[in-house]
Amino acid sequence: MLDPAHGGTDEGAHGSGSIVEKDVTLVLAEAIRARVLRDGWQVLMTRQGDDTLSFAQRAAMANAQAHAIFLTLHVGSSGAAGTAYACYYDFGQLAEATPPVAGGLLSWETAQRPWEPYSRRLAQLVQGELATRLPGSSEQPAGAPLYQLRAIDEPAIAVELENVNAADEGALTALAAPLAGAIAHALVAFRASYAAEVH
Ligand SMILES: [Zn+2]
Repeated sequence: MLDPAHGGTDEGAHGSGSIVEKDVTLVLAEAIRARVLRDGWQVLMTRQGDDTLSFAQRAAMANAQAHAIFLTLHVGSSGAAGTAYACYYDFGQLAEATPPVAGGLLSWETAQRPWEPYSRRLAQLVQGELATRLPGSSEQPAGAPLYQLRAIDEPAIAVELENVNAADEGALTALAAPLAGAIAHALVAFRASYAAEVH
């Protein structure tokens, strides 16, 4: 499940030039979709147009798919140009600020928790590929309490490409091929271990 973040009335980041994040995330998602289809994945996208979708709507789409993997795509505003990083939800960094809530809300809010080791592994694999294909990218993924991943009931990561202040959209979409290659290679590596352990 590929999730081009933002969309519709949520435009995401605006760069110092003409770039709007919601447009670039969609272009990147389409490039990744085309690339990973070659490896035999079934690919769904949370949006294929300029739709306004809540985090909950995106999570519901992802969670409706058995054995799915969720990737949400962003364009950052402050990272070194031409780099990218993968992020997983790190529950260890989360202060237990959420009190138990009756009626299942808590379980929805922490759906990602049992998947954290898989999401972390996937993020590590993606980040390793990014480090070689987009020079300057970190060797290690970031763990953070990234709210939009929290309700995803399957392995889930965010990938952020830098950055939205590029001179024009072409400077970013030129990075779509190495980004897609990195994700495709990492997914194939992940599939081997994940299938053996989970399915
Ligand atoms: Zn974003």
